[in-house]
Amino acid sequence: MTIREARIQGAARLKDGNRLLDGSIENPALDASLFLAFILKTTRDKLILRDAETLNEDAAADFTHLLDRRLAGVCTAYILGRKEFHGLDFTVTPDVLVPRPDTETLVDAALAALPLTLTEDLPRPVLDLCTGSGAVAIALKHKRPSLEVYASDISPRALAIARENARRLLGNAEAIHFLVGDLFNATPYPLFSGITANPPYVASGEITGLTREVRGEPLEALDGGTDGLDLIRRIIADAPAHLLPGGSLLMEADPGQMAAITLILEKKGYRDIRIYQDLSGRDRVIEGRVHS
Ligand code: GLN
Repeated sequence: MTIREARIQGAARLKDGNRLLDGSIENPALDASLFLAFILKTTRDKLILRDAETLNEDAAADFTHLLDRRLAGVCTAYILGRKEFHGLDFTVTPDVLVPRPDTETLVDAALAALPLTLTEDLPRPVLDLCTGSGAVAIALKHKRPSLEVYASDISPRALAIARENARRLLGNAEAIHFLVGDLFNATPYPLFSGITANPPYVASGEITGLTREVRGEPLEALDGGTDGLDLIRRIIADAPAHLLPGGSLLMEADPGQMAAITLILEKKGYRDIRIYQDLSGRDRVIEGRVHS
């Protein structure tokens, strides 16, 4: 069997099996190419050039194994142990939520918001809560190395992955100050110019309705309580004590939660409330500033 034939057959198997998986294999052809590239230790671009080559028996068996796992409902990122986010290749395991393209909006919004809150003579620490794989914190530090970045998570296992990502992607695990703790309770630095968070925001009752592959992600990264806003409420209440005057709080949430979050922010005295859209044009990130 040639690589091309394997790719086409693999994609067809995934497409077929999708019926059992609530359609969660969004791109069977992409997954099949990613698996082959992984097995042959190459990139997808280079794989195309090797289309006519024969796939040896071992590689074919590996390919079947990866397709089987995908058809058992394991997401591609966990199978490959990697997920691209904001141009960086993150290590991911089932201990962390898989970074989503939607969350790149949080990074871009924070980069846009931060210069406005900075003054020349102040340090510039930012804090990423619920950091998980460290995707947001590391992307921020990578884009703007002058930022001093703190990142916290309640899960020590998630932080181990985040540290590994910082070491590999920033060249040094100490490039970010990682803290194990429940939201703010481990942050030594009281005053940040910005706080970012992609907290769990799925309503508890909606968890069982998620696709099988999302249900394979850590529940503590998804479940936001009865209306999904438990963590968001706590962050909004506690952030002002940790922000510099004029500092920004930026959070990812579901498009349907934006009106409720706006109200909570307003009641707590935040100003300049702004909503940013994700790549599909849906409201995804909300920002509020504390009094300057
Ligand atoms: N966007 C995620 C989903 O697809 C939810 C992530 C979160 O709760 N932070 O379910």
